[in-house]
This record gives sequence, structure tokens and C-alpha cells, in this order.
Amino acid sequence: MEPSGYEAVIGLEIHAQLRTASKIFCGCSTAFGAKPNTHVCPVCLGLPGALPVLNRAAVDCAIRAALALGCAVQERSIFARKNYFYPDLPKGYQISQYELPLAVGGMVAAKSDDWAPDYDIRITRIHMEEDAGKLLHDGFGDSDRRSYVDLNRAGTPLIEIVTEPDFRDARHAAGFFGYLRELLVALGVNDGNMEEGSLRCDANVSVRKPGAPLGTKAEIKNLNSFRFLEEAIEYERARQIDVLESGERVVQETRLWDSGAKHTVSMRSKEEAHDYRYFPEPDLPALIVRPERIAAVRATIPELPAVWRRRLVADHQLTPADASMLTHVRPSLGRYFEEAVRAGADAKTAKNWVLGLISAKMNDLGSDDAELLAEKVPAAGLAALLALVDDGAISGSMAKGVFETMFVTGQTAGAVVAAQGLAQIDDESQIVALIADVLAANAGPVADFRGGKTSAFGFLVGKVMKAAAGKANPTRVNELLKRALEA
Ligand code: ADP
Ligand code: ZN
Ligand code: MG
Repeated sequence: MEPSGYEAVIGLEIHAQLRTASKIFCGCSTAFGAKPNTHVCPVCLGLPGALPVLNRAAVDCAIRAALALGCAVQERSIFARKNYFYPDLPKGYQISQYELPLAVGGMVAAKSDDWAPDYDIRITRIHMEEDAGKLLHDGFGDSDRRSYVDLNRAGTPLIEIVTEPDFRDARHAAGFFGYLRELLVALGVNDGNMEEGSLRCDANVSVRKPGAPLGTKAEIKNLNSFRFLEEAIEYERARQIDVLESGERVVQETRLWDSGAKHTVSMRSKEEAHDYRYFPEPDLPALIVRPERIAAVRATIPELPAVWRRRLVADHQLTPADASMLTHVRPSLGRYFEEAVRAGADAKTAKNWVLGLISAKMNDLGSDDAELLAEKVPAAGLAALLALVDDGAISGSMAKGVFETMFVTGQTAGAVVAAQGLAQIDDESQIVALIADVLAANAGPVADFRGGKTSAFGFLVGKVMKAAAGKANPTRVNELLKRALEA
């Protein structure tokens, strides 16, 4: 808490674009980066008489996100018109959900992940809506006089996730936003591309003395990075404390974050706030989601990233940092790692390989996807290679070379070792025979050793290794030589 005795109270509203091929109410493509106004039709242009038809895949995406956040998906929800005028909104209203949203009442539990605070974060609601178009102000010869409208984005499906005002710290809010991004990407619901605007956050901030009723909030719009979110909340907390300490009142308003100047600026006050005149969308029926459909979607939800992280630590004794590398930074390598362990590899050795040599390999390939790797060296192939090291057939350093060859040729570890004649001599009778020859040819050092000169032992080991052309397993040579000298 603040030395001043105030605490921050924060609630988030997060807009996430859903990863569908087509828009929410028409068949136009949602692909990013096309020539302006090429992915449009009468529906998303808002031409008179055009009728919306709800995209089934978008609803399934929204249900997935809702279930993963512990929400109750409502059997019946209603689309509504949110009326306002803006040049990127050709219909003059946005189709959203208002009184009866798709899902309500979720939660992210206290301490459920590294970022998570020691209190629960409640999810108020998740509703579906359409995105607006985009105004382009720069990059044209006449930008000083004109703005341009690109409606390719108009009608892209969104979910809005609204939290209760449960956060007390900017870091927790930023951590939650990061958690949501990871979760939605892992679910295949969102592409996580914040630069392209696929995921954006509004932060509601107020301050109060702990235990006092909620203070008046300001809403900071359209934060599209974790750092901006944290900095904007921090700035706003301090600003509001200053306002209160100087005997004034915080006014309810919408503010914008200026990331260059690092401060928030007022955009509009409550008096200027929109009256959206919501009413039910007459062109769409109620959205009915039957329990069987919810169950079918639930069955396809993978293990959530935070749960996976905890399991890796618990099952394989990985450090939280390693678990995080494998699940968050490179989830495809995390799956590869687990497959190798299931195929019998030792977890610690496999982790070292995956985060060391194999990660470096992926960097070289400029790829984040372990599929290419798995094509050449399947996880079971790595396990087989590590088994050869474990059995003493090859040394750890030889294994690295073998891996490289496996990667280039797609051969199995066994095939590479055989083809290159790399296998160590591990056979006891072969090593014993070599030792016998060496002892016979080095009577002097043998006598020295027996007379107490221990350094002669190392000399004799060297001779045996040389006789074996370096391929004898050194541990075995040590054991057997000791036995021979003591006989
Ligand atoms: P509005 O009516 O202005 O849209 P809501 O009650 O719908 O406000 O809440 C919008 C968001 O603001 C939610 O994320 C909610 O948790 C948050 N919020 C509400 N009141 C406060 C407050 N006093 N301080 C901080 N956040 C708040
Ligand atoms: Zn369209
Ligand atoms: Mg509201």
C-alpha cells in the first residue's frame, strides 16, 4: 500500500479478436493487412437491407474462452445495438451484447500462477460483439487535410472480458493481461498480436482508503501493451492521490495514455459520455447455446498453460523458470520435452537438451515451431539417443554430434552410431584383453603402481584408451584396470 494510506482499485475490460476465418455476421475474410476496403460486403458496410447471420465458429471460440475462465455460459443470450456515431462505424451502431451476455461469473484464483496475487480475480462477464473499422490518419500526401476509412476490420468478431474491480496493484493487472494473452493463444481463440490490435485493454482505476467505499474511477482506453497498462495505472493512481490530497475530487472520465509523455490525458468527462440507447438487435434471434454444445466445446479445451507449468514442476522437478521457458516461451518445445520423457528419457537430461542444444537449433532455423524439428528427430528419437548415452554405448559429447547427423539425415540414433562406427567398446572381455596386453607391455609402470606410485595408474589408463582407439568406456576401463592390478 501507499505510504499515503491509499490503495488502488482496478478493473479491466479486455477486447480480444477471435481467430475465425470469416467475420462475425458475414462471410468476409478477417485476414490482417489486405488492401484497404477489399474485405467488405453489404453486411459489414452496413448497407440498407443487408442482414447479419451469426458465425457459428465465433460462438465456439467465445465459449472456449468463457469456459477456460470458469464462466457460466448462458443458455440464452441477446445481441443488442449500441448506438453511436463514428466514421469507422458505417451502420451508426455496433452489434454487441448488453443485458444478457454470453457468459457470466468466472474467476482466476489467487496464487494460481506466478503473476497471480493472493486474492481471487472475478470475471464479471464475457460478451460477443463486432469490431469497428479503422481510420487512417498518416501516410498519405494529403494527411493534413483528410483521414481515410478502412473497413476491412469492420465486423471482425470480438469478445469483451470484463473483470470485477478486484486488482489492487498495477503489476497484478499487467500480469493478468499477460496471463489472458497466453491463455487465449493456447486455446486458439486469439492470435496474441497486440501490435496489430488483436488484443486491447481498458483499465478502470480509482483510489480509496482501505475499507472505504469505492472511489470515483477514471477509465484509460485502448492500452495495447503490458508495459503501457502498468505505467498508465501507476500514473493514474498517483494522479488521483494528488487530486484527493489537494482537497479536490476525482472526476469520472475517460482518459488516454500518452506513451511518449508517460501521462494520461482527459478525453471526455461523464457529462460528455455517450448514451448508447441500447436495444435488442431486431435482425438477430436470441443466441441459444444448448448444454450438449457447451460439453462438446469443453471436451476440446487443452490443459491450460498455468496448470501445465505447475505440473512440470511437480512431476519432473523442473525449476519454475525452466517450466516457464517450456510452456510460455516455447510451448511446442514443452510438448516435445514431455513426449521425450514419456518415451523414457530422464527429465533433467531431456530438459537440458531441449533448452540448450535444441533451442539453439530452433534459433538457427528461425523457427518457434518444433514441428520441423520433430520431423527430423522425433521426441522418441531423442529419447533413444539419450538411452545410448545412459547405456555407455556413446559418450555425452559424442551424442551431440550424433544429434546433428540425425537432424540432417533423419536417421535414427542407432543407425548413425553404427554407420559412423562410434559405438564405445563396452564389452568386458574385449576391455579385459586390451588391459592384459597393456600390463604385459608396461612392466615398469605396473611395478611402480604396486610399489605405491599411484600416478602410474593414470598412465596405464591412457595406454588402454589408446589401445582402444578412444572408444572404450572410460568408467569401465577404470574399474577393470583396478581389478587387474589388485589381482
Ligand atoms: P460503467 O458503468 O462505467 O461501464 P461498470 O460498473 O460497468 O462501469 O464497470 C466497468 C469496469 O470498471 C469493470 O471492469 C469494473 O470492474 C470497473 N470498475 C467499476 N467501478 C470501479 C471503481 N470504483 N474503481 C475501479 N474500477 C471500477
Ligand atoms: Zn462482409
Ligand atoms: Mg459497464
